[in-house]
This record gives sequence, structure tokens and C-alpha cells, in this order.
Amino acid sequence: MRSAAREPAAAIPERPYLLERIDDAAVVQLYADGFAALPPREKVLIWHLYQAAIAGRDIFYDQRYAHSLEMRDLLEAILSHAAHVDAPTRAEIERYTKLFWINSGPYNNLTARKFVLACTPEAFAAAVRAAAADGAQVPLRAGETIDDLLCRLTPMFFDVDFEPTVTSKTPPAGADILTASANNLYDGVEMRDLDGFEERHPLNSRLRKCDDGRIVEEVYRVGGRYGRAIEAIVAHLRAAIPYATPPMAAALEALIAFYQSGEETDREKYDIAWVQDKGSSVDTINGFIEVYLDARSIKGAWEAIVSYVNRDKTTAIQKIAANAQWFEDRMPWAPEYRKEGVHGVTATAIDVVIEAGDSGPITPVGINLPNDQRIRERYGSKSVSLANVNEAYEKSTMPEYRREFSWTPEEAARAERWGALASELTTNMHEVIGHGSGKVEPHLNGNPQNALKEQFSAIEESRADLVALYFLPDRKLVELGLVPAEDHDTIVRTEYESYARNALVQLRRIREGTQIEEDHMRNRQMIVRWLIARTRAIDVRVRDGKTYYVMVDPVAFREGVGALLADVQRIKAQGDYAAAKALVETYGVHFDPALRDEIVSRVDRLQLPSYTGFVMPKLTPVVDDGGAIIDVAISYPMDLAAQMLEYSAATRDLRDA
Ligand SMILES: [Zn+2]
Repeated sequence: MRSAAREPAAAIPERPYLLERIDDAAVVQLYADGFAALPPREKVLIWHLYQAAIAGRDIFYDQRYAHSLEMRDLLEAILSHAAHVDAPTRAEIERYTKLFWINSGPYNNLTARKFVLACTPEAFAAAVRAAAADGAQVPLRAGETIDDLLCRLTPMFFDVDFEPTVTSKTPPAGADILTASANNLYDGVEMRDLDGFEERHPLNSRLRKCDDGRIVEEVYRVGGRYGRAIEAIVAHLRAAIPYATPPMAAALEALIAFYQSGEETDREKYDIAWVQDKGSSVDTINGFIEVYLDARSIKGAWEAIVSYVNRDKTTAIQKIAANAQWFEDRMPWAPEYRKEGVHGVTATAIDVVIEAGDSGPITPVGINLPNDQRIRERYGSKSVSLANVNEAYEKSTMPEYRREFSWTPEEAARAERWGALASELTTNMHEVIGHGSGKVEPHLNGNPQNALKEQFSAIEESRADLVALYFLPDRKLVELGLVPAEDHDTIVRTEYESYARNALVQLRRIREGTQIEEDHMRNRQMIVRWLIARTRAIDVRVRDGKTYYVMVDPVAFREGVGALLADVQRIKAQGDYAAAKALVETYGVHFDPALRDEIVSRVDRLQLPSYTGFVMPKLTPVVDDGGAIIDVAISYPMDLAAQMLEYSAATRDLRDA
């Protein structure tokens, strides 16, 4: 037996999530609680996929920057032999190396800008020599001395203006987006070189310009670029196949075929096989997937994710989806805009066991693949939310953060206790019954985007948020077992309070100018400012020179949300551009710069982190006397450096010569 509404993990207060802070990065332990209870077959399957994930990690380092691996080797050699390195230099090399690991190279993941060592080149050279004297393997090229190596790498480690940006989609006037980007997806190639050039391997190749001006595609495949790493990945995938379900085995076979040939036709077959496996509990993403690293948005960055379905959380999502019509029939808008026969979007909640390459240590929270639009249209896509990642984000939020912006200690305590559950429920409703709901007038031909133009996204995001906020207090959620009856009011209060606070706290991200551009931020600002102006739900209070948005009346909050939702739905249904623009621009776009400055200074004083790197769970096989794997144990290293050194050691021999 199991009660449907689960205790959030806050019930285990002694479990550490936030491990350390390095500058504006947080290091957080990721937990995969359901792993131990999986059947042995699935655990062994995951073990092989986990090794396949580690095997490809260095591909991404090399794609991100041609010198990354050499730099990492040197840093790791020093830190592993640091007994005679002077303490301040050692501390600085540790700081830099941790950021290097979190960002998979010397470029910040958020800003794309290079970061550098803050010690002197002389101090760094002394550290290298001290480590070498203690037996460190310094990564020298043939015939190279330590001085040669240091001289060659000095600009990479110390000069912030040398190859300053990893991906530059809007470079300075006259510069080329490919040569202005420091990544290693192109070598000597400019955009104009590609006029008329036909790419046979758009996703999985590096383009190099030869001395005679020809462009060649270096294809990532067995026998090609990254061939040794890809062979190792293939060997682990092969070992996984006997433990996979038939549809997953078919997808793994197709992936192996693609890694072997590198051909587009095999990539398509793999995408199709992968997206058709919707029923397996275990899944993996392994390959050249997302194109954000490439200024042209063509080349895939290598990544791997291994996961299993989080049954409880998926059940919660599916309960909402199964009742989509019930919610639709009660939408607080004009009956003619209610849909018949609605199906909620189906999505799966997963727990991640490992993420590497482009998806780790910095991870997404939701994924929708494949990216190939033609395959999506014919075969659909898989949409997943990374449940344990979301949980770890929530649990690692520094308490100061909630305290600073909460009016009372009780408000902060509620956020701590219920914040994760409340925001997860709201997010699920936003996705499953928010976006899918409602209908538009026939004259729009099902395409309100054309009528609402640049206001569409903010209106649509606000509509989905308002649906979630509106139904959160509904007793239907208790009936569905999504919230415990006795805590329901507290959960509603927690979410409404946090929604109000967020409109203030989000201003920290806009350090320049006085306008919000991003649509989700516009929508949230708009809803809260509208509620402040039109209802008694939120008080704006000032204490000791600090501003607070205090949610004081949940009933008024919900009534206001219902009224605004009715209007937002009408705007969408009629394609009322003038009303959309007035609503968004009055409440969602502009803000008081003095208020923003106040928020920024409060956040900076608390040194709140702006991004997070995760330490992954560690798997260890349990073998019988004959050496066969009979089980797999999971543990939590709590140590970024130990895990990064372990991964690096595992792949050092898989580099291209
Ligand atoms: Zn949305």
C-alpha cells in the first residue's frame, strides 16, 4: 500500500544537497532513490549504459574547445600531486579547476564567456614543476619541455581576450559567427566557405578547411573522428542489449548502426526506433543531440543521459491528464471557449542516474526529443521532466534565499516544507491541462499566433500558469490523491506566496535596462502586478528599506486569477492583439529600476549562486564468484573533484591519437 501524496524529501533533513559554492556556481548532489528497488535486470542494463555515458564524456570537452582536454590533464595532474604546491596557488587552481569541470572547459555555460586563472603565470609554472617533481604526468607533446607547454597554454589559461567566446551568434560587426566562436566544431571555416557546400553529415561532423581551400567533413563514427571513444561506447551498448526490452534493444541496435556508419539514414532509423520505445522503464539518450553549441545551430554536441521512470511522479502527471476534460468543463472562461474531447499532454517523470557531456554536470530539467521535425510529425516525441534534478534544485536552494524575500519566518518555513511539492504540481498542471486547454474562434483557423504576434508567447504562458494557479485550491486534487486533504490549504498558500515573491526576485536577472524581454518572465511579472493593481491578494510592503510582495488573501488571489484567466482566454480566442499588447505592456514589461537595484544588492550581499553543477550517483557492480554481474549498488560521492578525476581516469586511453 502506498498513499498517493508523498512526503517531500524534506522529511530527511540530514541528507546534504548543496555541497559547496565556487564563485557563482553551486555544487549539488543528485539522488536516484528508486534505483535500489529496480529489478536486477534493469540495474545491470543501467550499469552498461552508465559506462557508455562516461566513455563519451571527453568528446564533448573536445567539441567545446580544442585545448580543453590538454588543459584538464594538466590541472588534474597538479591537483593529484599538490603536496608541495604553495597553499594560495593551490587554492586558486582548485577554484578554477572546479569551474572548469562544472562547465566542461574554460567557458561559462550561461554567458559563453571565457574564465581564467587568477594567479600569476609564474605561480602556476611553479605549481606545475612542484607537481612534476612529485611524479605528476605532465601532458607534454613529443619533444616538448614543461616550459614549452606552459608557454603554449598561457593564453588559454590567462588571457581573457584570447578566444573569448565559445559560441558567438551575434559577434562584433564584420566578424564571422564561426571564427568568432572558440568551439571546435569548425577548423578555419567561415560562413562564406559554406556557400554551396553540401554537408552529408550535418549533425555528426566537424568541418575543416584544408590548405588548398577544400572543406572536409570529419565524421564522428567508428573509424572516424572520436573513433576510439565511439568504439568504447558501442561496446558498452552491445553489453546492454541482452538486458533491454525488445523495443529498447531495437533502439540500441539502431544507435550502434549509426555510430558505425555515421550516415544520416541510420540516424533517422535510430531516432524512429528510439521515439517508438515509449514503454520501457529504463531509457538512454546517447549521441550528438542538441545544437546550441554551434553558432549555425547544425552540429550536435555529444551528450548522454541514463534514466528510469519515476512511477509515482508519472502517475501524478497521468492522473491530471486523464481528468483533462473534467478541468476543461470547469474553466472559468466563457463556455464557448471550452473544448470537447480534450486529452492532456502525456509526459513522463524520470530519475536520472548519470548525465555526461552536454547534459552534465550542468543539466536541463525537461527534455523533448527527437529534434528532427519530420520524425516528430510522423512518430511523435518523448517529453520527460527530470524529477530528481528538480527535487535537487529545490532542496539545494539556500534558506537565506527564501528568508530574504519572505515577510515572516512562517512564510519561509512553508516554502521550505512544501515548495517542492507545490511547484511540481503547478508545473504539471501548467503543461498537462494549461497549454492544451481552450479553443479559439474559427476565424483564426487554429492559429492565434498570427493574430497575437510578438505578444503570443507571453499570453500563452500566462494562460497556462493561470490555469494551474486557478485549479490548485480545487478539492479535485485531493480526490485524485495529488495532495493530502489536511495540508491542501497550506500548499495553496505556499504556492501563491512563492508566485508573488518570484515577481520581485526575478528582477535580479535583468541587471541592465528597465525592460523584461523573456516571455516566461513577462507572464509572471504581468500576473503578479495585475493582482497587486486589481485585487487585495498581494500587499506591497517595505521594512528596513527592503521591499516585499506579501500574499495576504488566497481567496482573493484565486478569484483574481480566475477573472484574469477568463480575459486572457478571450484575448487568445479572439486574437485580440490590442488587448494582449495593453495587458502585457502595462503589467509585464516595464519595471522600476530602483526596485531592481534593491533586489540585485540584496541577492549579491547573500552571494546567491546563479547556476548549478551536479555530482552524479556512482554505480558499482556486484559480481558473483564466476565474475558475472548479479547486482549493481548505488552510492553518492558528495565530492565533485573525486567524481571528475574518476571519470577522467576512465577515459584517458580513449582519445584520438
Ligand atoms: Zn509553458
